[in-house]
Amino acid sequence: MRMVFIGPPGAGKGTQAERLIKKYNMAHLSTGDMLRAARDAKTPVGLKAEEYMSSGALVPDEIIVSIIEERLGQSDCDGGYLLDGFPRTIAQAEALDEMLAKKGTPLDIVLELQVPEEELFTRLAGRGRADDNPDTIRNRLVAYRNQTAPLLEYYGKTGLLKSVNGLGTIDEIFDRVVEEMEKVNK
Ligand code: AMP
Repeated sequence: MRMVFIGPPGAGKGTQAERLIKKYNMAHLSTGDMLRAARDAKTPVGLKAEEYMSSGALVPDEIIVSIIEERLGQSDCDGGYLLDGFPRTIAQAEALDEMLAKKGTPLDIVLELQVPEEELFTRLAGRGRADDNPDTIRNRLVAYRNQTAPLLEYYGKTGLLKSVNGLGTIDEIFDRVVEEMEKVNK
């Protein structure tokens, strides 16, 4: 399965992704994790990305697209992957479409995890990551609303988009996601 996971920060994508990759044997491609690793390793890309991440802004498309392009070329992606936190802008989605069209490996599903904003703020504020302070959280939610939410319409038009209620227990949400996955699993 080639899957895109969309949802605001704090929606629980990471938690659900951990389970989904096991069930469907997908590589887990989290751009946030990749950027944090690059930042901690103090690579040039990591240090550049940190300038944006620390304020809750999105890292420029060119940086992210080249990271993903390289990652998708690795052999563990051949059996399927879950893109967690990418694409986050229309330009990234277009770049992804182009890459996948060239390879002849289209996406199977785009899954949206829906959680109301009030709930997100509470969850993020309780998490304790460096970019989980109130100002940064606010910026990340605004970035989602303005830059990422338009992807719902973009993928809605392709028929790939499935939306799932992200409120409830981890098990309940997982079951809802799996129900959608099973409809397209091949
Ligand atoms: P995440 O762990 O997915 O919440 O990502 C943490 C931070 O990394 C975000 O707030 C952005 O600054 C940056 N980031 C992660 N993925 C992307 C992306 N696809 N495009 C731009 N910035 C990203």
